[in-house]
Formats: sequence, structure tokens, C-alpha cells
Amino acid sequence: MPDFAITSASKTCAACGKTFAPGDRIASFLLDDVTSVVRTDLHEAEAAGWQPPRLVLCRWSHTVPEKAETPAKAAKSAAAEMEEMFLALAAEEEAQGGSRAVLKYLLALALARRRLLREVKDTPGSWLHVKSGEILHAPEPAGMTREDLIDAAMKLSAPAKS
Ligand SMILES: [Zn+2]
Repeated sequence: MPDFAITSASKTCAACGKTFAPGDRIASFLLDDVTSVVRTDLHEAEAAGWQPPRLVLCRWSHTVPEKAETPAKAAKSAAAEMEEMFLALAAEEEAQGGSRAVLKYLLALALARRRLLREVKDTPGSWLHVKSGEILHAPEPAGMTREDLIDAAMKLSAPAKS
């Protein structure tokens, strides 16, 4: 099954242009740009007044880590962000169709690989969120081949424009 990791946050805020500092709260958006998925990051406090230029696939929040993360720590931070993304999508009822359902399913696979989710036996599409004990739903999107899923994962892993 395809794996992917999201691109890391930009160095600067898309709203005010300032460089993010360790400890800043960031609101991140994945925007669907038809041929690719674009990640945009801004100070959380500025997110309410920001007009996304494209369809928002997912919005999540995180804190800028201290500088010079080790590769292991950076991988852990990326997994924590993907967990936030998955929980944000799982909380939305209308995340059932199209790109969001594909994103949600790919995140479920990626989080299962990192042991943050566990597929519920005999209930395909149901996942145990290990940290909270909650059962969340992310079925395999109907009609998607393995190739389609790999394409979608590649699209999500594309480097951010900026
Ligand atoms: Zn800002």
C-alpha cells in the first residue's frame, strides 16, 4: 500500500510574510490545485481573516518545533501533524466523497504504518485511534485501484510551491 509523508511547513507565514518562530501556533491548509496539492501555513491568529484561494481539503494546527530537530524527532512531528489532519477529516461528516475521502484513507494507511491507528479486525474501513481509543471511519474509496492511490499519494507528497 502506498505510503506518503506530508511536506514540512513553510518557513514564513502566508498572511503576514514573517518567519515562523519556535513555539508559534500555525494553521495549515491543504489546498486542492487540481494537478497537485498545495500546502499553505500561516499564524493561527491570522487564519480566520484569510481567504483560501482554492478548495480547502484539510485544515489542522500545530506548533513550530524548536530548531534543529533530529531526523527521528522530525519524523515524529510529521506523524503528529498527519494525525491532526486525519482527526480533522474524521470529524467532518461531508468528508465522505472525492479528494477528502482519498486523503483520509491515505492518512489512515500512513498512520497505521506508524502504529498511531489500528485497523479494526472484521470491520474494514474502521480504525482504532490508539491514543484516544476512539473508532474512526475511513473506508477505502470505492473504485480506486492501487495505481490511483499511488498517484494520489504522489500528488500529496509533492513539494509545496513557494
Ligand atoms: Zn503571520
